[in-house]
Amino acid sequence: MKLKIKGKVKENIPASYITSIRVGGNIRHLVYPADEEDVYTILDFCKRKGFNHYIMGNGTNLIFTDTEFASFVISTRAMNDIKQEGDDIFCAGGGILLPEMVAHTSRNGFTGIESLIGIPGTLGGAVVMNAGSYGQEIGDVFYSASVLKEGNIISVSKDKVKFWYRGANIDGMGIILKVCLRLDKADRNTIKKRMIEAFKKRKQTQPLGYGSAGCIFKNPPNASAGRIIEDLGLKGKKIGGAEVSKIHANFIINKSNASAGDIITLIKFVKDEVYSRTNILLELEVKIVDKEKEIQI
Ligand SMILES: Cc1cc2nc3c(=O)[nH]c(=O)nc-3n(C[C@H](O)[C@H](O)[C@H](O)COP(=O)(O)OP(=O)(O)OC[C@H]3O[C@@H](n4cnc5c(N)ncnc54)[C@H](O)[C@@H]3O)c2cc1C
Repeated sequence: MKLKIKGKVKENIPASYITSIRVGGNIRHLVYPADEEDVYTILDFCKRKGFNHYIMGNGTNLIFTDTEFASFVISTRAMNDIKQEGDDIFCAGGGILLPEMVAHTSRNGFTGIESLIGIPGTLGGAVVMNAGSYGQEIGDVFYSASVLKEGNIISVSKDKVKFWYRGANIDGMGIILKVCLRLDKADRNTIKKRMIEAFKKRKQTQPLGYGSAGCIFKNPPNASAGRIIEDLGLKGKKIGGAEVSKIHANFIINKSNASAGDIITLIKFVKDEVYSRTNILLELEVKIVDKEKEIQI
């Protein structure tokens, strides 16, 4: 029996096509559910046919290894409707891109997420990662989410979700279908200024011309991972087609047709160098997916 959904079903797509770092092996089944019903249908199909599944947003914090992903990858990208529910609550499908969400709320004169304008992920991915930049974090404005867990949709309110630096306990609770944010009314020009400022800073400090997954490591307490790596002289270090960015040392870029193996070997190299020379154990911010599971390296 074939899977029938309203959204798209694709077979044999390289992970490099759907991740911002542009590496990774074949994905046997890639699906884009159009709505909640599609998600149910996919999960039911996987259960009956004995497939695993992995949920992703826009793949901007993800590295798939070069090994084939033999089951289903479910991308939320097509679930991206947005609407205002109540005076200061904005709700959107988990797959809406943050820049679209920011554009919408800012246009309506609401503040709270405008500095996140340049983060290329989805709203669902941003909640899982507690994405943040230039003084704003998604956890600060999170109001509630609808999460599909073991066949039931549950509403998860703010008091049930704990956010910390680049993480939240909603990770692993299930598939985030919809997210609501509570924002404050503010002057539109001030919001616009902050957006422009955030864009400018990002352009000056990040290697946006190459494939990457954003920051590779979390900042250790009271320190900057990028600064530590830079101080050890590792900017520009290359393994195969992967390079520690010369612009921002916490970015590893896909300089020239890197494999996931090149990227991961360079991550390990940097982590080992930092540990052996400073005794600081860097923790990954990016998620690495191998044989259908997130792994630690
Ligand atoms: C150039 C660049 C700049 C970046 N700058 C920043 C920055 O300034 N600040 C920052 O915080 N991050 C930054 N990032 C990292 C990344 O964009 C964020 O972590 C983003 O929130 C990830 O969203 P995503 O949709 O791409 O998630 P993905 O990479 O697709 O997935 C990330 C994790 O979330 C899970 N997930 C995604 N969607 C769902 C869902 N609907 N339900 C359940 N689980 C889900 C996945 O399983 C995975 O564990 C940057 C990345 C790039 C490439």
